[in-house]
Amino acid sequence: MNLSFQRDDSRENVVRNFELLSENIGIPIENMVLTRQVHGSDITLVNKKHSGMGIIRDRTFGDSDGLITSDRNVALVTFHADCVPVYLYDSSKKVIGLVHSGWRSTLQKISAKAVKIMKENFNCVSSDINAVIGPCIRKCCFEVGKDVYEEFLNTFPGCSDAFASGGGKWKIDLVNIIINTLTQEGLSYSNIRDINRCTVCEKELFFSHRGGRSISGTGAALFMMTE
Ligand SMILES: [Zn+2]
Repeated sequence: MNLSFQRDDSRENVVRNFELLSENIGIPIENMVLTRQVHGSDITLVNKKHSGMGIIRDRTFGDSDGLITSDRNVALVTFHADCVPVYLYDSSKKVIGLVHSGWRSTLQKISAKAVKIMKENFNCVSSDINAVIGPCIRKCCFEVGKDVYEEFLNTFPGCSDAFASGGGKWKIDLVNIIINTLTQEGLSYSNIRDINRCTVCEKELFFSHRGGRSISGTGAALFMMTE
């Protein structure tokens, strides 16, 4: 079931899909806040007042590829079809963040930026922050053009494991790069979990933009604190 309003699908259908998701996971649709994503690096701080925005009522905030909240029962929602979902959680300050990190946002270090915002706005400490990487396109399937490959090489010269080339093909490991940016921001490797699933290899299970040859619905990442 497609969970993006930014695809070729009727508003009514997508709202219905969110209702079905809500019934299945037991989180009311009124508690959810959905981004309008633009492959940038802007991140929005949200709270209870934003509940339901993007799904059942209009947003009062602009385009962004990440959401952060310290409020309980506010379900952050981003949508994905290959782009990397990054969940951030400070268990001490009780702050959560959710990021949509496609290659453009990864190049802009959006996950590290989210950590910085958590520190600046909520006094979070790196060693208290946990991160989880959800299903996404992985190095096995993420082939890019030479120009994009070189842009990444120049931006992340220390991430040699993230790159592979040969036979006129260039591949990038976005997860490796994201984890690197998170550890640069002070997160410990032991606090970062990677679900290690490829949306393209498992396109029967996950929505995949590449695996579906651009004709695809979109899945969602959802993150909420209850206590
Ligand atoms: Zn793959």
